[in-house]
Amino acid sequence: MEKWLEGLEPVVVRQDLKVPYRYSMGATTSRFFIEIRDNRKIMGIRCPQCDVVFVPPRTTCGRCFSQLHEWVEVGNQGTLETYTQVRYTTPVQPAAAPFYYGIIKLDGADTGLAHIVGDLKGQEPRIGMRVQAVFKEERKGNMLDIRYFKPVGDEKEAGSRAQGARPKKKVQKPKRREGEKSRIKVKAKKSIKKKTARGKTKKMVKPARPRGKKAPPPKRKVKGKK
Ligand SMILES: [Zn+2]
Repeated sequence: MEKWLEGLEPVVVRQDLKVPYRYSMGATTSRFFIEIRDNRKIMGIRCPQCDVVFVPPRTTCGRCFSQLHEWVEVGNQGTLETYTQVRYTTPVQPAAAPFYYGIIKLDGADTGLAHIVGDLKGQEPRIGMRVQAVFKEERKGNMLDIRYFKPVGDEKEAGSRAQGARPKKKVQKPKRREGEKSRIKVKAKKSIKKKTARGKTKKMVKPARPRGKKAPPPKRKVKGKK
């Protein structure tokens, strides 16, 4: 024990430290939230080299390090990939327990978006369940502008507002999905066909080249710009 503590009983006080802070979300994330807030559109961003659509969007591809600029609108419906139930209410959670968190792969996206799964009307969520975004009426430019994702209900609801006037068939089969399907088919057959399918995409000019070799050029380009 320290000398100065001899004969003293240290006083211990329990307190909480509150640290409010503000930060800029940057150009990419800002645009994502602005589109949700102003247009009820969920936007993703495509990597021209990997042909992966990220939702939420990101500035740099984590796989090939390309700078990403190609915005694409994805569906406001998607598939529940996985979920968990929150059983304890804490101040950092956006809702009172119990509620479900899910990872939703929106139509046209290749990555999952974490959000609340709600309005389940007593049923349990299940993997593979079709869900759709429910937007708040009053939106502020943050993730909770989407109140939650709820199970896709009747046909009328299916093509909801963020999909504009597009008919339901198109909603479920955006461009990206068609591409995916053809790739899956090809995969089952032969790799030669895979190249053909990929070659259809303008940006996949040299599909035979390994990714590791393709990655550096955009990197250097960006550094040069800055
Ligand atoms: Zn990439």
